[in-house]
Amino acid sequence: MNKGQKFSVWYFLIALIVAWLFAEYIYKPYTEGKTEVPYSEFLADLDSNNVENADITESRIIYTLKENVSPDKRPIVGGVILTNKKAKNPENIKSVVRLSDPFLIERLSSADIKFGGIARKDGLIDLLMGILLPMLPLMIIWYFIFRNMHGAGGGIFSFGRSRAKELQGEMSGVHFSDIGGAGEAEVELREIIDFLKEPKRFDKFGAKLPRGVLLVGPPGTGKTLLAKACAGEAGVPFFFITGSSFVEMFVGVGAARVRDLFEQAKKKAPCIIFVDEIDAIGQSRMRNFNSNSEQEATLNQLLAEMDGFEDNNGVVIMGATNRPEILDQALLRPGRFDRQIQVVLPTEEGREEILKIHTKKLPLDPAINLKSIAKVTPGFSGADLANIANEASLLAARRKAEKVSMNDFDLAIERVVAGLQRKTPLTPEVRKKVAYHETGHALVSCYLPGSDPVHKVSIIPTTKGALGYTLNMPNEDKYLVTEAELRTRMAVMLGGRAAELLVFNEASTGASNDLERATETARRMVTEFGMSQKLGPVRYASPSMMYLSGNSEVRNDIGEGTAEVIDTEIKRLVSEAQEQATGILREHEKVLHEVAGTLQEKEVINHEEIQAIVDREKNAE
Ligand code: ATP
Repeated sequence: MNKGQKFSVWYFLIALIVAWLFAEYIYKPYTEGKTEVPYSEFLADLDSNNVENADITESRIIYTLKENVSPDKRPIVGGVILTNKKAKNPENIKSVVRLSDPFLIERLSSADIKFGGIARKDGLIDLLMGILLPMLPLMIIWYFIFRNMHGAGGGIFSFGRSRAKELQGEMSGVHFSDIGGAGEAEVELREIIDFLKEPKRFDKFGAKLPRGVLLVGPPGTGKTLLAKACAGEAGVPFFFITGSSFVEMFVGVGAARVRDLFEQAKKKAPCIIFVDEIDAIGQSRMRNFNSNSEQEATLNQLLAEMDGFEDNNGVVIMGATNRPEILDQALLRPGRFDRQIQVVLPTEEGREEILKIHTKKLPLDPAINLKSIAKVTPGFSGADLANIANEASLLAARRKAEKVSMNDFDLAIERVVAGLQRKTPLTPEVRKKVAYHETGHALVSCYLPGSDPVHKVSIIPTTKGALGYTLNMPNEDKYLVTEAELRTRMAVMLGGRAAELLVFNEASTGASNDLERATETARRMVTEFGMSQKLGPVRYASPSMMYLSGNSEVRNDIGEGTAEVIDTEIKRLVSEAQEQATGILREHEKVLHEVAGTLQEKEVINHEEIQAIVDREKNAE
């Protein structure tokens, strides 16, 4: 946005310079060297026989006084007297606005004055001055109004031009050292940077690199910053555009913009095109019921351009969104945005790094402990932390202090938290519950053979409202799932609730989603997959709707008795899963406490850390 404003200031300066050049080189020479006099004075000069000769143009009469007439005899009215090389005495040349005087020629003839010349370029200059000069301010005002109507960045005649603001890689000036806590995303982006640095090397091996990289994550986590850092590290030009600016009030503009953007980018390859808020154009055509054809045309053009890339032509297109689920599937196909990089909310360590970056230039009180600030700000994004650092420095400046104190930071956090209700830090009790809940999921998964290995466990609240999460990574794509595997999955789902019951003797609302998923699995086992002995190999679910995944419905033509058996069977399966989970956690209660403790301390733990604790207990036995 700032860049747009800077842009308009430049235009304003250019308009001023043009106006000055006009005045200096066109208007001034025209008036220079001639004394502007009123018509009455011209008539007086004629009557006194003081006029040597006269040139008549469409709008003026330029006349020269006879040499012997002293200019001092008459007052000079208006105009500037400067040099005129042709005249012996420049002060003797007068200019007068030509009035509609029917006797003019007669007057000149009778005074025996040499006169003539009408085809002077003064006519054109007069026209310019008479019409264009008064219009100039109007034109400038009109231009700025127009620009504001269409946002910054585009010229009046450039609706179809892309708004991608090009920054040279060096100019983007951002490097990975300016980004905190982006470890994983950074590793994934390294390959792209290598490719941008040396596309030829990849060509030699016939390797094809992803053309599109989608950065997915909550707002303010530094997606734009990461894309900029890629350009900065690779030293290539960076084109930045937001999805919404493609779609304008003028029909057909979006598609033209996309075309223009890619044309520009190809000329500058290797380079990066970054489309922020890509969901503004890439929204699924299926779900967008009131889809406007303008958005669709823009999306189609984007897809066509991405398909039209030759392999490894050196243009990498990066998109950012915080709503990947609404994107059109066509955008995510191979050859388009086929690589997704998750940019998650920072961990405690990451938050400390980000705070370090943003306080680098601040005069900090030595008592400030960034680690403790990072500890109390779970769920805060990089942008929130940058905001906190800024608020703290403002508070210090306001109290005219030499250094930013810890108290400034405390107040700044309060301020930012007040502005972001959803980010109220969790109370220690809630944190503890969440930690045990997530550990429950993770440990059941660890101890049950055949379950998906745990990748990461976190108690950083997500923007979708979850207070924590356990990420399981399947080892392989499963096309066929056995009954035992389904039971294992259910046990893992219920592990969180089992842990809460075991440790706190009561369940909490945090498990409602787990219960829903476990119940749905049990329902399908019973009604779709024939996995209940009592009900036998009969399908009780209504015919499935292909492509529309969702909860299966029980057929409405089944008897009351059967419906009851279905319910009891579902209940049995869910209860068994819960008992299994409880049994495992009871057996390994020590590990449960240890992992939950570590999780409360570190907020995020990964597979290796959990495995280390599990192994330690095993060896101790
Ligand atoms: P949005 O989804 O709203 O477009 P974004 O994910 O693109 O947000 P950025 O615009 O990159 O976020 O980040 C906004 C600001 O927050 C940055 O200019 C920077 O000051 C700060 N910031 C965000 N993440 C980080 C980080 N990991 N390290 C340092 N600063 C960060």
